[in-house]
Amino acid sequence: EVTSQSYIGIDPKLYSFLHHPIFCSPTSPKKSPAKKPNGGILLLSLSVENKHRGDGAGKGFAFAPLMCLQLHYNMVAPRASILLVYTGGTIGMLENPETGALEPLDFNYLQDNVPELRLLGCDISSVEFQPPLDSSAITTEHWVQLARVIEENYDKYDGFVILHGTDTMAYTASALSFVFEGLAKPIVFTGSQLPVGKLRTDGKENLITAIEIAAARDEAGRPRVPEVSLFFENYLMRGNRTSKISADQFSAFESYNYPHLAYAGIEIRYHDAVIANAHMGRTLSVRPYFDPHVAVLKLFPGITREVVDAVLSVPSLRGVVMETFGSGNAPMMPWFLDALRAAVARGVVIVNVTQCVTGYVDMTRYETGVLLEKIGLVSGRDATTEAALTKLMYLLGQGFSSEEVSRLMAIPLRGEMSLDQEMEGFSREISIYRR
Ligand code: ASP
Repeated sequence: EVTSQSYIGIDPKLYSFLHHPIFCSPTSPKKSPAKKPNGGILLLSLSVENKHRGDGAGKGFAFAPLMCLQLHYNMVAPRASILLVYTGGTIGMLENPETGALEPLDFNYLQDNVPELRLLGCDISSVEFQPPLDSSAITTEHWVQLARVIEENYDKYDGFVILHGTDTMAYTASALSFVFEGLAKPIVFTGSQLPVGKLRTDGKENLITAIEIAAARDEAGRPRVPEVSLFFENYLMRGNRTSKISADQFSAFESYNYPHLAYAGIEIRYHDAVIANAHMGRTLSVRPYFDPHVAVLKLFPGITREVVDAVLSVPSLRGVVMETFGSGNAPMMPWFLDALRAAVARGVVIVNVTQCVTGYVDMTRYETGVLLEKIGLVSGRDATTEAALTKLMYLLGQGFSSEEVSRLMAIPLRGEMSLDQEMEGFSREISIYRR
């Protein structure tokens, strides 16, 4: 809606003219507030053609000059405030001239290389890890540190963007998804395959789009994606559904068992039906406690007793994610089943996830699965190893008993796995959003 406050440095004589009905559009922002951008400047171009009949005798028509007004209209909607947490990763790295290897640099380097950050129409503040990390060095303590930074700033910002190395980003995004219960604001992870200082970098687009997504609101002004997500190379995915799938392609992440939350082409298209509902009004509870006494046991044909025993007999072991074949199958050698039985009897929670990138564990489909279920293994259904492992660490970290952890492992807590009846639906939807 055009108001007197909208005019900055405009001749007052034009004021009444601009209030002519044709300029006060019936679809003014008053009627559709959702269409208003979230702050920033709207450039309104008004073209006014004004014809005057000349009065010079016999001289016919004269056209007054075409009047072009460009009016800068300050939007009244508040600018979104975003906290950027820079943990490290390739995005902010530079080649060491002596070794040629990439090393992490501080946030100033990153900011200098992405001057566009100042043009985004958001208020962006930043916090950085000291020193910034190659994400292959991430530990559970870093997850706690990250969770605390978000918790302490939760009320001050509309959204959070976490810059993280790609190597372990899927683990951190999964871990953080469990930590925040009752989340009502976006936490978007991103990073890049090439540093922002490189000409062909993917870092700028990833960062800028992640900020836009963190700042996006729906028609009622609520955050558009109020969950822990991961944006990479055009796609927004649920964080705890992702895996790093490529060491050298720009499309380095995929969410095979859950549809993408959004696609960023010319416009960002949100797939609202698969985005978590905001827990508005629910109090946020942040529980960043992880028990690191877990292991991943990946089965392979010919696996030996020594290997299985070595993993399962670790004295402090409390949980294992076992990567099985196909729909959750494993060898049926008696020594193998005995080793599993003994571990479960000691209170070790063993979660069965599949080595396949799509599909799910169904321990009722084959005899071998039935045996595993009888022994007491928990089905990880279609969860990724990253999600199953971090969920196990999180649940064990809360101090629950093995029985309680087993029970909760079988229930989707943050959309990290699908319930049976949803499987088919999601498989079908995947083909729609798949690249
Ligand atoms: N090694 C890097 C890291 O994870 C890789 C990357 O960021 O792409 O920190």
